[in-house]
Order: sequence, then structure tokens, then C-alpha cells
Amino acid sequence: MRARALLQDIFGYDSFRGDQEAIINHVAMGGHALVLMPTGGGKSLCYQIPALLRPGVAVVVSPLIALMKDQVDALLQLGLRAAFINSSLSLEDLRLTEQQIRRGDLDLIYVAPERLMTEAFLSFLDEIPLGLFAIDEAHCVSQWGHDFRPEYIQLGTLAERFPQIPRIALTATADDLTRQEILDKLHLQTARVFISSFDRPNIHYSVVSKQQSKQQFLDFYLSNYKGQAGIVYCLSRKSVEDMAMWLNDQDIKALPYHAGLDNTSRAKHQERFLREDLIMVATVAFGMGIDKPDVRFVAHLDLPKSLEAYYQETGRAGRDGLASHAFMSYGLGDVVQLSRMLAESTAPDHIKRIESQKLDALLGYCETVLCRRQVILGYFGQAYEGPCGNCDNCLNPPETWDGTVAAQKILSCIYRTGQRFGAGHVIDVLLGKENQRIKQLGHDSLSTYGIGKDLKEQSWRSVVRQLLAGGYLNSDADSFGALKLTAKSSAVLKGQEKLNFRQEVAKKSKESQPKLSSSLPTQEDLSAEDLEVFEVLRQLRLDLAKEQKVPPYVIFHDSTLRQMAMRRPQDLTSFAKVSGVGKQKLERYAPHFLKALQPFAKNPEALTELPLKELPLKELPSNPTLNPPKAKIPTLNSSINLTRSLLFEGLKPDEVAQERGLSLNTIMGHCAELILRGEYELEEAVQLRDAEVASIIHQFEARSDEESHRLKPVFEALDGRYSYEVLRCVEAFWKRAKLEARG
Ligand code: ADP
Ligand code: ZN
Repeated sequence: MRARALLQDIFGYDSFRGDQEAIINHVAMGGHALVLMPTGGGKSLCYQIPALLRPGVAVVVSPLIALMKDQVDALLQLGLRAAFINSSLSLEDLRLTEQQIRRGDLDLIYVAPERLMTEAFLSFLDEIPLGLFAIDEAHCVSQWGHDFRPEYIQLGTLAERFPQIPRIALTATADDLTRQEILDKLHLQTARVFISSFDRPNIHYSVVSKQQSKQQFLDFYLSNYKGQAGIVYCLSRKSVEDMAMWLNDQDIKALPYHAGLDNTSRAKHQERFLREDLIMVATVAFGMGIDKPDVRFVAHLDLPKSLEAYYQETGRAGRDGLASHAFMSYGLGDVVQLSRMLAESTAPDHIKRIESQKLDALLGYCETVLCRRQVILGYFGQAYEGPCGNCDNCLNPPETWDGTVAAQKILSCIYRTGQRFGAGHVIDVLLGKENQRIKQLGHDSLSTYGIGKDLKEQSWRSVVRQLLAGGYLNSDADSFGALKLTAKSSAVLKGQEKLNFRQEVAKKSKESQPKLSSSLPTQEDLSAEDLEVFEVLRQLRLDLAKEQKVPPYVIFHDSTLRQMAMRRPQDLTSFAKVSGVGKQKLERYAPHFLKALQPFAKNPEALTELPLKELPLKELPSNPTLNPPKAKIPTLNSSINLTRSLLFEGLKPDEVAQERGLSLNTIMGHCAELILRGEYELEEAVQLRDAEVASIIHQFEARSDEESHRLKPVFEALDGRYSYEVLRCVEAFWKRAKLEARG
């Protein structure tokens, strides 16, 4: 009961998701727990609410020092009393925090494991009342995982040292072995295990066969997620650097991240990724613990290591529950390269065997004609009734063709050329090419020479990939990717087994690049006008975030802004109902956002209500233990007035932006407002020729009888030549002129 009240008051959410409530009650009552929940499932609440329910301070163990500050900032925004302790603190700040803990002034502290396990810190904990231990990213105890942290192993001794204190371990890792290892190493044998479904319904999965992967990615990005944040994974440091540079050349903000960069650059890039909407091009060294909620896509331009790794990496998309995308492009070269890496690995044989099975599972996923979600969840042992309707195969069922004869042709060609050549040469022979190498080897006299002219080279490569994925061929790493027959090949050669292949989709031109299906949840529910409002709210959020030096999502998540844009609340009561608005945020931010929403009221009568200032802000009981807001934020109203006086002093809009440390967009928004009020001239705001102004107004006129005013159609009709800010100013000018004409 109390838990639910906290969920609503502090976090602003209506109801618990999945197992959250059961977990919270269990831990609040003093039980131990292991929580397996996918990324974005809502693990944090599972220890944050018990931390508030139980007396004493909750100690949260987190492996990532660089992210602790943001985690704590997010809690402070909610009005919780939280702090972190790590090596970045000065001695003085450390003392202060310790004093706060002793006085019982904190609900949660975040600590790195190596700090927690020092004798000094443990004896400090001996002296103070403890609420619980939360061990985040608990899979870091697993020696087999690539996130292994030796310090995590020692956390097991907490069980003996603080037997009365409940411990809750949390991870998004799905597999059984890791689960056992966590229970074991963290001495959680008596813990209750909570396993959630690992489905991530808001992630759209798609795989394309690799052809100029950079361009393929660019098309995908521009047609679906232009200007939004995402991660691009590449295999090597070099390809990371290449890709990042290439994207920058295309005028797209992208930063590289890999283990070869020095610590400072890595930290700086990570920091920027959290605060800006840009693309992080990275090796797998990037990602753990990044809880940026609005990562819209994760793109793999090289194959991941396994399906587990793929699930983890793609899981970083869409934590906010909004529509997101896992995009992968893969080709024959990837398969050969991974096989080679596997063969060259010095791991013991039994490990190599497991890894090779994992590679097969991954290739199977790439080539499947079934629902991809079904394949992924099936791999984790979770039954799932497809089709999901949100993957490429479901939305665009691939055509299949009877490839038995084609398979026989290529298998026998591989056999006749001695199983010593890679796909390139074998396909050349099938196509009857007349090159030097074929002549020298005498392969033009083989019976299989030229018998594959019915298919294009591209199709043959697809056949090879599918034969590899199905285990009908091996890529032999010892002889540079030579294709070898397997035990399964002979049934096909003898005509005892029929094979169906997925039809290679013809390469689409840029224009026909499919947009995401409109069946995606939440992507479609914003009308063009809602989107405009959303953009205004995003800009306001960015300005507020900059003033307080926190990442924007710490103020409100995109999902919260989207709801605001759709509902356009005009008073505190309806504002408070938006999911993600708790008490503290209501007090802090409602005035700003309500002001920004006012011009967009869906129901104009709402405007006749009390003016904002007189709204009963005070009536809301404010929790006396909450931290006072850190920064005093001017209201948007006075913000426009400030802009106006600077403009009147003769500053240009960009100079005002600089002077005020706000974005040019915001200032241009103010200009539009002032133009509408007849207090500012259009010529001062934008530099347009008269003919241009006339042609833009023409577009507005042409749409003036449409019900709602919409900038987007105008923007598009003018081929995006003018920014929304410019259009908004011209629109204001036009409206003003109409008002004046009417007298
Ligand atoms: P995880 O740590 O499991 O990846 P988070 O704890 O970061 O997930 O939660 C993911 C997102 O879901 C956050 O934006 C969080 O505020 C939100 N969330 C969590 N629980 C709920 C809930 N019961 N109702 C609505 N949103 C929730
Ligand atoms: Zn599907």
C-alpha cells in the first residue's frame, strides 16, 4: 500500500509493472532477491522504493563510477536524498557525505564495489543503520561473461558480515549459467528469484544483407531516426574510427568509442552521448550501464559475438518503452572473419566448441524466415507465440524458393575444386568467369564450370551464407575461409533433402527505402502537430537541463514529453496526471511546461481558467524531507520578457542566445511570439527576401482552411529549405497581418 503511494507521489507512475510490486514487498520485508529483468524493465524501482520503506540507508553497488553522478542526479530531481561515494570525490566531500549518512540524512548511497569492500568502509557501515544492499549489474560476478569484475566476487562476504540486511541483486542477463553463478558467488542461496519475460516489445528487429554497410546504415538512419540518438557497433577499433569519421563527413554528429582511446576522451564522449542526441560509434567496450532512456536504435554493422551479446547490446535501445530499432547488416565476410577468430582463439577446446555452437545460432537468426523475436526468445528458452508483427520478417514475410538444385551445384563445385577455396572463387567458377586464376588452376575444364549462370553473384553469396547458417558448409579458418563440406552436405547432394532459401531482396533505391511500419507502437500516435509541440517541449527541457547541468532525460523522459504533447494539459491537475510527473517535478517544472503548452491548448476554454500564478501550487503537501530545488529557474514568461529587452537593446537573436546561454531555437520561438504580439519586426528576426516571405506565406494561405495549424506540411512543401524557427516567425508575421487587416 505504502509502496504504491510512493510510486505515484515520487515517481509519478500509475501502477507497477510485472513483478515490481512483489519484489518491492519481498525486499521491504527483509527478504533477499535476485531480479532478472530485461533492460528498461524497471529494475531501479525494485530497490529504490524499498530503500524508502526501510529504515536506514540503502547501499547501492554499481560498477560504473562514471555514471554514478547521473544516477544520483536523477534521484535528486525526484526529491530523494541520495549521494555517491567514489574516487572522484574530494576528501572534503567524502567527509561531508559520511556525516550526512551518520545523521541519517540520506536514503540511498551509490558505491563502487572496490570502495565498499575496503575494511575502512565496512567498519564505517558497522556503525550506521543500514536499510539494504542492492547489487546492480550483478552479472559482473560471472567469470565467463565479458563484463567480469573481480571486485564483485568479494561482495559475497556481505552475507556473513551483515546477515540481517536484505540483499537484492539485479541483472538483465538472461542465461541460466550466469544466474547460477550469481546466486553462488553472492551467497544468495536463500534469495527468491524473480524472472521476467525477456521480450522487449518496443524493439523492432531487422537484418539486411550487407552491401555498402555505411550507406545502408545512412539510409536507415535518415529515413527513420534523423537527429536522434543511437549506437552503431563495429567489430574493430579501426572500423569504429572510419565510420565515425565518415558520418561526420556526411554532417551527422557521431563520436567514436573504443578501448584504444585514452580515458579522458572516452569519458568525454560518453558524457556527450548522455546529454546530446548523437550517434556513438563503438566497439562492444561501450554500453554497459548506459541508462540513457532515449537511445532510438542500435545498429550492428558487423556481426555480434553471439545471440546473447546481440540481445544485450540491442537491449540498450528504447529503455523508455518507445518504439526503437535493432538494425543489423551482415555478409559473408563477417561469417568468415568470426570463424577465423574462433579458430585462432587460444581458449580450451570445450569452450571453443560452445562458441562455435553460439556462432551457428547467431547465423541461424540472421538467415531465419521466422519471426525474429520468436527465434531470440526461443534461444533463451522462453516460449513465444509469433508472429510479433514488429520485426522485418513479420511485416514483410520473406519469399522463399526451392534452392535444392542451386545447393547441389555449389556443393559439388566446392567438392570438385578440392574444398580449398573461399566463396569468391567457387562462385566465379559457377558463373563461368574467364579469369587468370581459373585458367591457371584448370577450373574451366570442370563439369561445374559455368553451370550457375542462372543466378547472380549476389544470390550465390546468399546461398553460401544460408548453407553456412544451416550447417551444410563450414568455413575452414585454418585455410583462410575455404569452404568445406560437412556431414549434412551429402543428403543434399544425394537429393535426399530439400532446401528452401530466403529470397534475397533486391537492393532498394534510396527513395524507396521503406519507412518503419506504422504498426509500431507509439511511433504513430503523435500527429504532425503533436510532434511540433513535442519539439517545443524538448527544447525547453534542453534549456532547463543546461541551466542545471544534468542530462535532459533526468528532467523528463521522452515518453513523458510525448504524453504532454498529446494531452496538452493546461492546469496543474491534468499536468500531474501525466505519467512520469511526481510531486517534486510538478512543483519544479509545471510552471515552465504549462506556459509552453498554453499556445497549443486543445480546448481553448481551458485558457479561461485561473492564470497560472494563482493556481494552487501551495495546496500540494510538500514533503519536508525533500531537498530544496537546487537552482532557481526563471519562468518562461519572464524569459520572453528578458529576450524582448535584449532585442530592444539592439542585440540580434543569436547574440541574445549567446548572452542568455539558451539555444537559438528558443530565442527564435520568443521572436515569433513577439512578432505575433506586434512587438518585433520580421526583418529583424530572419533574413529573407520579400519574394521568399511571399512564397512561404503562400504556403500558409493555401492551408489556412485546414483545421489545425501545421508547420510540417509547409516545411515539407518548401523542401525543408527553411527551418521550423524561420517558418514559425513568418507564420507569426502572417497571422499578425491578418489580425491587423481585420482591425
Ligand atoms: P532497468 O534498470 O531495468 O533497465 P529502469 O529502472 O531504468 O530499467 O526503468 C526503465 C524506465 O521505465 C525508466 O524510465 C523508469 O522510470 C520507467 N519505469 C519503471 N517502472 C515503471 C512503472 N511502474 N511505470 C511506468 N514507468 C516505469
Ligand atoms: Zn516478428
